[in-house]
Amino acid sequence: MNRVVDLRSDTVTQPTAAMRAAMFAAPLGDDVFGDDPSINALQERVADMLGFEAALFMPTGTQSNLCGLMAHCQRGDEYIVGQSAHTYRYEGGGAAVLGSIQPQPLAQNASGQMALADIASAIKPDDCHFARTKLLCLENTWNGHPMPMDYLAQATTLARQHGLAAHLDGARLFNAAAASAAPGETVAAAARRITSYFDSVSVCFSKGLGAPIGSALCGSKALIARAHRVRKMAGGGMRQSGLLAAAATHALEHHLERLADDHALAQRLAQGLQGIDGLQVRSAQTNIVFVDVADGRGPDLLAFLKARGVLATGLIGLRFVTHLDVDAAGIDRAIDATRAFFSQGAAPASALAAGRAAVY
Ligand SMILES: *Cc1c(COP(=O)(O)O)cnc(C)c1O
Repeated sequence: MNRVVDLRSDTVTQPTAAMRAAMFAAPLGDDVFGDDPSINALQERVADMLGFEAALFMPTGTQSNLCGLMAHCQRGDEYIVGQSAHTYRYEGGGAAVLGSIQPQPLAQNASGQMALADIASAIKPDDCHFARTKLLCLENTWNGHPMPMDYLAQATTLARQHGLAAHLDGARLFNAAAASAAPGETVAAAARRITSYFDSVSVCFSKGLGAPIGSALCGSKALIARAHRVRKMAGGGMRQSGLLAAAATHALEHHLERLADDHALAQRLAQGLQGIDGLQVRSAQTNIVFVDVADGRGPDLLAFLKARGVLATGLIGLRFVTHLDVDAAGIDRAIDATRAFFSQGAAPASALAAGRAAVY
């Protein structure tokens, strides 16, 4: 009953008993020698599923994106990316620091899309004044928003017309796929429709899919060969990593179709929070719910929820993420605790200060 309802991220999931059993049973080798059968099976499976020649297992999505960007771009090249895209904003500037790749960040609309006209005018002519524009990087889902298929088609077609390659940060690709699947279409088939627009894609197994660790970069054989060298440089050459690959393979086999359950729980949460005075549901797409909290009470709400065993993240806006380890009862606890916070009225200033101290 008092189990913590952890809605901070879909990265917090514990491997299921069946996933642990698959890890325990995995045949292992040494992946730096290329002979870990569980790694090789995962790489073939994910490449095949997403329609690419090859794939490379990575410890993190950050390293996967970095290896992808550095496989596409040389020192002095440039990539076009959203102003609040993960690769630009939340990866320590790795493309610039480690790859000498110049980012060209562009504004995004509320759904994460860069305007096609902005992309077109950011592509530099071949002139010694400019960095060489080589790559367009999109993210799907972005803050939970699945990108419309026609936007993916238009943006990547525009990139190709100018000789740019296209990379997808698909940390939550399968959430986008689950949201975009036509009736009767599998999540894997919908994912493949999305990835068909891209030269490379990075996917995370450690988010909605529920694996403990791991990502994969997919692309052509030549691109993956270049990325392999970067991964080694970045310290990502692992040994008996088939233990981790087995968890990812288990997730691909068993956790794709159930992503719809996470999306339904996010809707349940959004509906339960709607209409609470002092709080506004800003967006509730796929498995992520964002709310705006009035009067600077976000940190106090966060502390109040935490004291009642409900964890979220944020400041002015709060973020709640659903996943494998939350159920309807947990969501209802989050709703009830939020209602309780707003029905108690404004807390005295000293309590606000105490709440803040508790958060940070
Ligand atoms: C989580 C995430 C990543 C990679 O994160 P890691 O913590 O390095 O695995 C990349 N892009 C997006 C959009 C993400 O949400």
